[in-house]
Amino acid sequence: MKKRRVLEYLLWITTLLVLFVGAWQLIGGFFEHQVLSQQENYLEKKGNLLLRMAKEENYNEASLRQLSQHYIEHVDERVTYLSATGKIIFDTSNSNLLGTRSNRPEVKTVLAGGKLGTSLRKSATLKKELLYVALPVEQDNHLIGILRIAESTTTFMTAASSVRNSILTVYVILCLLITIFVLYFLRQKNRPLETLLPAIKKMVANPTRTETIMQTTPQWEELYQALNQLSEQMSHTYKAYSATEHKLHTLLNDLMIGIFIVDSENKLVMINPEMKRQLGLFQNLAEKVNFAEVIKDPQLIQLVYRISPNNPFLHDEITLHQNGERVLDIDLRLFNEERQILVMSYDMTQVRQLEKMQQDFVSNVSHELKTPVTSLIGFTETLLDGAKDDPKTTTEFLRIMEKDAKRLQALIQDIIQLSKGRQALDYPIQNITVAELLAQILESYQAQIQAKNLSVHLVGDQALVWSTKVELFYPIAKNLIENAIKYTPEAKKITISYTLADNLTLNVSDQGLGIDSDDQQRIFERFYRVDKARARQSGGTGLGLAIVKESVEKLGGKVQLESHPGVGSTFTVTLPKL
Ligand code: ADP
Repeated sequence: MKKRRVLEYLLWITTLLVLFVGAWQLIGGFFEHQVLSQQENYLEKKGNLLLRMAKEENYNEASLRQLSQHYIEHVDERVTYLSATGKIIFDTSNSNLLGTRSNRPEVKTVLAGGKLGTSLRKSATLKKELLYVALPVEQDNHLIGILRIAESTTTFMTAASSVRNSILTVYVILCLLITIFVLYFLRQKNRPLETLLPAIKKMVANPTRTETIMQTTPQWEELYQALNQLSEQMSHTYKAYSATEHKLHTLLNDLMIGIFIVDSENKLVMINPEMKRQLGLFQNLAEKVNFAEVIKDPQLIQLVYRISPNNPFLHDEITLHQNGERVLDIDLRLFNEERQILVMSYDMTQVRQLEKMQQDFVSNVSHELKTPVTSLIGFTETLLDGAKDDPKTTTEFLRIMEKDAKRLQALIQDIIQLSKGRQALDYPIQNITVAELLAQILESYQAQIQAKNLSVHLVGDQALVWSTKVELFYPIAKNLIENAIKYTPEAKKITISYTLADNLTLNVSDQGLGIDSDDQQRIFERFYRVDKARARQSGGTGLGLAIVKESVEKLGGKVQLESHPGVGSTFTVTLPKL
């Protein structure tokens, strides 16, 4: 741009120079021509005067010679008198000069009948440039001779050249003024460009900065002020745009909804981290790749291809089979102006799992409740039908009914414990003496322990105090101890031990039936029992270990199991400090 402006200046200067020089050539030529024609005129008048004086003497040669001689006395001129054929009769510069001058242009003109012959050339006789003027000498309309007056050009050209120099001086000043004027206008024309262009370039390079033009040229002030305002507005707009973009970026990154956008050429414009997580994409994606190369899932690709201007909204639920099942609720929307497709995906996997768990739980609970309730109704009806009259049968039936009622009670208590969910987070933290709490639990099972003749050992610091949520810690210990007593045959040993390092570790170890490795994976599920008949017989609800696992997790700990069928089981609970 700058180069172009310099070129523009150069072009103008060259054009002006050519114009000025050309014009001077014309003026100089014209001036010279004017000087010569004036001089010719002057010489012609002189010649005519000489001839008029000679006419009085009847063109007598001697008097003409005398007049001529007299004439040149005070001027630097030369008079030549020639015959009617061009032969020299006399010449004032050289009295001995002879010969003919009929071939000279000025003489030729007169010989051809002209009234005036002129010529400017170097004289062969005087060796300098002369202006010749030849006039016919006529008597009775007959040419009787030719009078030629010549004058050295230096005589009048010296005077003319000083005038010429003065004109040149004025001309040069005029040219300079015109040049300055033209350059000034050029500069005025380019000035806003030179001031604005760098400012605009800076604005484009760094849109957040406000550019201010400090020029106070009244002519362009309005323009500069408009640009200053534009720059300020642009920087504000850009900053606002950047902030919005940043917010949008953060929002898209943190959004729990997966989003990706496909453009009109099926190229992937953007994909947010949640969408990548849902689709199991962990690699960095190249820019503007075809979306099908990234998304890969055929159901999702089909949905994107199904959307059209006639069908701009689509909604579907798809199931992906990668690292387990993943259920996605997909919404597609076509933006007609940009022909972009927005795909939003909500991960429904957990919702669906929870729904299924709830359904399973409800059907399991109904099933578990049905058995003792049916039994209670059966025995009650039998008693009412007459069995009550036999005291022995009545006692036996009432014992069975008591057992069923206790099972119902245990089941209801376990369901209540499990349903406490979020409430568990609000339980208060209390200090408990671990030995006391475990002894209290064992006390409540004393009848069963004695009936089975089990030897139970409680190992650990008697004085150990632990801060925990008792409402969660108690069911953990209770269920593990209850299971150990339930699933350990007569006369065997149960050891309950606890230690405190960084965490509290509680071990419940028995010499019971043991659990094989397949069942070990599942015994913490709700209502899972290894041997259903035996477990029901022993009064188990199938919820004990599910309560243990959920309570341990709510306390931030973990539960592990080591068991070998026929040898025994050891449940280890590790709890961090709260
Ligand atoms: P239940 O109320 O039936 O005991 P749990 O959830 O407490 O239910 O236990 C699930 C299953 O795990 C039990 O049915 C039982 O088969 C098995 N089990 C639990 N504890 C032991 C143990 N200490 N020894 C052997 N099997 C056990």
